[in-house]
Amino acid sequence: MLLEVKNLSVYYYTLSGVVKGAENVSFSLEEGEWITFVGESGSGKSTVAQAVMNLVPSPGRIVSGEVLFRGRDLVKMKPEELRSIRGKEITMVFQDPMTSLDPLRKVGDQIVEAMVVHGVPEDEARERAKDLFEKVNLPADRLDYYPHQLSGGQRQRVSIAIAMAFNPKLLIADEPTTALDVIVQDAIMDLLDNMKSEGTTIYFVTHDISLAAERSDRIAVMYAGKLVELGTVEQIVESPLHPYTKALLEAVPDLWKEGEVKAIPGYPPDLRNPPRGCRFHPRCPLARAGVCDSEEPELREVEKGHLVACHFPGGWKE
Ligand code: SF4
Ligand code: MG
Repeated sequence: MLLEVKNLSVYYYTLSGVVKGAENVSFSLEEGEWITFVGESGSGKSTVAQAVMNLVPSPGRIVSGEVLFRGRDLVKMKPEELRSIRGKEITMVFQDPMTSLDPLRKVGDQIVEAMVVHGVPEDEARERAKDLFEKVNLPADRLDYYPHQLSGGQRQRVSIAIAMAFNPKLLIADEPTTALDVIVQDAIMDLLDNMKSEGTTIYFVTHDISLAAERSDRIAVMYAGKLVELGTVEQIVESPLHPYTKALLEAVPDLWKEGEVKAIPGYPPDLRNPPRGCRFHPRCPLARAGVCDSEEPELREVEKGHLVACHFPGGWKE
């Protein structure tokens, strides 16, 4: 087991109240797999990804739970220990590479520095930077460019090159292709696939379930701060059990060839005051009064490897 997340909860202490960004999220990752977390914005998918690196931005805080990376709890780890793991064993790429790149420094110097901080001699880092650029299909002369001289897709290649520097055990990629056009998006996905084939576990985050279905081994569906369904791509796409997962799939034109594309009615709830019982009940076509609006469904395994948090998985059985 590479990563085991147990009962992870993250709250944001805002002026207008406590936002329960993620609650009691548990899952584990096997070495070498590709898992994708999917959900609408505000579902908690980015929050959980940040918490896995113990990098929740203020005013957020991990209020409970464990994140066991190769058996060691990142939540309890000292900052210097965390720094030795981040950027080396666990790396991250974001939707906007400008958030992690320094606009005032050449990208080559930044990639070299990322290695030097982990003890690589500078000469060697310069050599490795060239190889890494080759791996992400960037010409070597781009090492001397500043971030603003590169396109969005090239900048994302730079952040992937930095993420690849140490052959990480785990890559967390939060919507890395969302800002890019489809062709560039595909090329970036290929780079992540290459990392996977070299042994890196891919933890991908997207709002787009069709993108999730494309390359993943497993899909985790989040709604309103809760993990509501988890399974293999086949289980999730071909036999989804949670009404929210079904709704996400029905909102995609291509996956659901027959039948019309349906938007999900209503809005995600206010996480300062989430609905009682099942958080999806105000939007759920199957909600039953007296059950769904009062009892919270637990995430449970209904077939091998397929977990769902719903009182009526797959629909009512009379
Ligand atoms: Fe819908 Fe009830 Fe299942 Fe929640 S528990 S998803 S409200 S059927
Ligand atoms: Mg996000």
